[in-house]
Amino acid sequence: MSIPGFLNESSTDFSIPQHRDDMERALRTVALQLGRAYRLLIDGKALTADKTFQSINPSRKSQVIGEFPCADVEHVDQAVRAAERAFAAWSRVPAAERARILFESASEMRKRKNEFSAWLVNEVGKTWREADADTNEAIDFLEFYAREGLRYDGTHAVTPVAGERNGIVYIPLGVCAVIPPWNFPLAILVGMTSAAIVSGNTVVLKPSSDAPAIANRFAELMFSIGLPPGVLNLVTGAGSDIGDALVSHPRVRLLSFTGSKAVGLRINELAARPQPAQRWIKRVIAEMGGKDAIIVDRDADIDLAASGVVASAFGYQGQKCSACSRAVVDRAIYAEFVEKLQSLTDALRVGPADDYESDLGPVINERAMSTILDYIEIGRREGRLVSGGGDALPDSGYFIRPALIADVDSDARIAQEEIFGPVLAIMKARDFDQALTLANDTEYGLTGAVYTSDADKIERAKREFHVGNLYINRKCTGALVGAHPFGGFNMSGTCSKAGGRDYLLLYTQAKSIAEKIID
Ligand code: NAD
Repeated sequence: MSIPGFLNESSTDFSIPQHRDDMERALRTVALQLGRAYRLLIDGKALTADKTFQSINPSRKSQVIGEFPCADVEHVDQAVRAAERAFAAWSRVPAAERARILFESASEMRKRKNEFSAWLVNEVGKTWREADADTNEAIDFLEFYAREGLRYDGTHAVTPVAGERNGIVYIPLGVCAVIPPWNFPLAILVGMTSAAIVSGNTVVLKPSSDAPAIANRFAELMFSIGLPPGVLNLVTGAGSDIGDALVSHPRVRLLSFTGSKAVGLRINELAARPQPAQRWIKRVIAEMGGKDAIIVDRDADIDLAASGVVASAFGYQGQKCSACSRAVVDRAIYAEFVEKLQSLTDALRVGPADDYESDLGPVINERAMSTILDYIEIGRREGRLVSGGGDALPDSGYFIRPALIADVDSDARIAQEEIFGPVLAIMKARDFDQALTLANDTEYGLTGAVYTSDADKIERAKREFHVGNLYINRKCTGALVGAHPFGGFNMSGTCSKAGGRDYLLLYTQAKSIAEKIID
């Protein structure tokens, strides 16, 4: 079979009336499916649990997305054991067959793109465009990792030695616990899960309690394509209840986590402690938070920079690890730039995510809303609130007006701590030197951008701006699979690159085989 080269999925143009109608129809179809009771999926069986929890539409607090079982420690053990049993066969399934599952899942998801996006709109408050981007990225991960799985297959050449037939093969590791966040509940979940599966591992997937319905949709899709039972096991429940049991389970071989710094560090620590009967050092892939900065230099195209900063800061309500939460602006253009930011920000429409006209939807839940509003209060003391904040909006959901806080010092809490909401700290820099120092002055190192027309400054930024994903004269969000392999430095994670050509190495181990040639 000849496989065309990888290309990113195109976004849907909702300005075309037909596309809008299609999405409206998908939203209506999904609305009819809300409120269902779900099951745990372990070894191909649907199981209930004693306790349940609800997932809620953040645009409409009274709307229940679904009712989900709270798995207990016993379920976690069952799921790991099922995955371990399935590993024996799945690890020997030819790479072409494993890749086929991903290719067909991608093709099915493409056919049902609006339906998947409609779930994202409902369950996590993504606007149409953001939901479409999330689904497209999920399709990209499936397509990209399927090709990568094929590329890593077989025996790879090593330095030849006379009298030996030598090579290296990449073999799977075992049971992989996949623990994704709620903010890209399709793309990131699909990326981590499909990378593990295509490499020949089996998975226990514990989705975020804010996005369990989307995880279910994906699991159903994979099984409908023919994924054998036990290769993917889905356990829902609070990370605080079952997380430790999953992470410390002696039969788990690797952990693929994306989420906050606090949880990532805990997982890393717990995974490092060997348990009785554990035969390996667990591998931990942890992609964590960010406090991403955009530098706006005095030589920048100010309009381009202002729209880039606003898109990076407030896209999906600032709830992206890549979101710009600090704008570091040269003093020569500071006042003018803040004014431009203000007028762009004030023009943003905040409203229910299913309304096509909304630029920003709600934040994810009540706790996030209260944390973000607290940070805005802290920001009022640490700087000057220029725009937005906690103004009254429909109280049907968790809506916050995007906030601009100017004149913030680098040691301010809102300049150091990840807020994960629509709050931008604006900082003044004396010159480009100081701008770089300020931009690097956090424990994180995920994304960053520089707007300047000066070629020397661009070169300096390439050398000195210490982030995993650096962008020049464009926004710092919207990484594309394959084109912008994604992952950060320092406390932003273990330096993996999702959507990159070395990502599957993290889900495999290399076996070097030397065979003496006997005549
Ligand atoms: P979170 O850390 O609260 O939760 C992430 C996942 O961990 C969830 O599935 C949660 O249920 C689970 N969990 C919670 N406690 C656990 C425990 N003790 N043991 C095991 N699992 C546990 O993060 P979140 O709120 O879902 O996501 C937002 C965070 O994710 C932000 O910090 C954001 O920057 C980060 N993020 C990073 C990237 C990246 O690529 N670096 C991408 C997206 C999001």
